[in-house]
Amino acid sequence: MSALIVDNAVIFSGGIVPDADTLGIRDGLIVAVGRRDEVEEVVGRAPERIDARGGLVTPGFVDAHVHLGVGAMDALRCDLAGATTLAEIDERVRTFAAGSAAPWIVGGGWDPTLFPATGPTAAHLDRLVPDRPALLLDADHHGAWANSAALAAAGLDASTPDPADGRIERDAEGRPRGALREGAMQLVARLLPAPDIAAVAAGILRLSRELLAAGVTGWQEAALGAYGGFPDFTDAYLQLLTDGSLRGRATGAIWVPRDLTLDGVDAFITHAVDRARSNAAAGLPSSTAKLMLDGIVETRTAHLLEPYEGSDERGLSYFPPALVRRLVPGLNAAGLAVHVHAIGDAAVRDALDAFAATPEAARRRVRNHIAHIQLIHPSDVPRFADLDVSANAQPFWACATALTRQTTLPVIGDKRRDELYVFGSLARAGAALALGSDWPVSTFDPWQGIHVAVTRTPPSEPDAAPLGADEAIDLRTAIDAYTRGSARLLGLAGGRLEPGAPADFAIADRNPFDGPATGIHETKNIVTVVAGERVWG
Ligand SMILES: [Zn+2]
Repeated sequence: MSALIVDNAVIFSGGIVPDADTLGIRDGLIVAVGRRDEVEEVVGRAPERIDARGGLVTPGFVDAHVHLGVGAMDALRCDLAGATTLAEIDERVRTFAAGSAAPWIVGGGWDPTLFPATGPTAAHLDRLVPDRPALLLDADHHGAWANSAALAAAGLDASTPDPADGRIERDAEGRPRGALREGAMQLVARLLPAPDIAAVAAGILRLSRELLAAGVTGWQEAALGAYGGFPDFTDAYLQLLTDGSLRGRATGAIWVPRDLTLDGVDAFITHAVDRARSNAAAGLPSSTAKLMLDGIVETRTAHLLEPYEGSDERGLSYFPPALVRRLVPGLNAAGLAVHVHAIGDAAVRDALDAFAATPEAARRRVRNHIAHIQLIHPSDVPRFADLDVSANAQPFWACATALTRQTTLPVIGDKRRDELYVFGSLARAGAALALGSDWPVSTFDPWQGIHVAVTRTPPSEPDAAPLGADEAIDLRTAIDAYTRGSARLLGLAGGRLEPGAPADFAIADRNPFDGPATGIHETKNIVTVVAGERVWG
């Protein structure tokens, strides 16, 4: 097989490697790291050479929480992402509907801040799509907008109760207004026609190439299972693995259905173990279950220990604690890790309590993690390290954008500001950190996320005050978490540039350690290599 030399490089492996400017690769593995003459001696005559021109060479980035399947579906549907006015939304929906013969108009990506707190209305959407049912998800995929035909098709009226895991926005008479929060989306979404798996697979393949272009060589598809108007993406991935077209290292987390009851826990665990086994045999490691415990702060569906500011509501908890405390130990005992979605401090505590209820021997066989961790009560911070629970953080969110100042900070109040995205405290308390994007919620470009992790300031608003400056992590820690930390969490080899490691790496156009932190976001990936093969650049 091929040999490759990368020279004129600044090499990062858990930190900058002093006295090394060259990387030697043979047969898909790193065989030498050092000075050029030392490396050439090991590699021999190299048919291919990449001049890194003084740029930082890092292990391939690993996105520990991403939704390529959702992105693929969004592209097939009416796409409202980036629409900044109601007029633009109206125009896009009308144009899409006029060009579509489909029995349902489905789409998403609308910006919730363009609408009042009660969300958009069915009457508004009826004017855009009068002839058939329509369902449009919001940009966070935590809410949906239905027209009257869609509400009628699902049989929703004033007599329909809210599901335990969601909320139907209503008018003064209790009739559904058109906005459906969290689990209430499913009341309509379950009626959507099944998508064409080949088209979804093609979309995932296209997006995986965009990840590679950004320097991301591995990732976790954060939910393999039907939910919120999206199908199970497992078959699309298996198709790409069977035909050999997928180049990065994909893993997945098996979705825990939201209608799971205590009686169904054992059967679900059996199903998940079977699924994980067959997926692994096909090349899709997925010995992880995805457990979504709450919603998001902005719609007051995140589960909080203390009520939202100016209200007596504490948000939603999607599963009873008794079920969680049975499911989590059962999954760990069966060899499956648990990837929890927890935004609010109460959801984080419920997850930690469930891990604490798991015998240590079972817990240590797997890598459990809690993703998003927007709010953590200070007393729970040390429990991550104590319970071997990794913090799966989405660093791009850890800043006070205009949107955050408008929609997030007012509902949590000043006293909880210090609980926000406490990555620095977690690192100081010895928690294992992994990073990811939650794309399409936010950019999958690792350098954008790392910029925020280090500066706590949005790249687009350099003059904004840092959000909790004490909770910043340094550049070394951030890159290490986005490479080695995430790889370790997902069970992928790599994450370090050293002899014997798989040659998965990314070359940046500069060395961001040389410039000011305020310029980290300008770093661009120029070459990506997976298993010794240049896949981009
Ligand atoms: Zn997610």
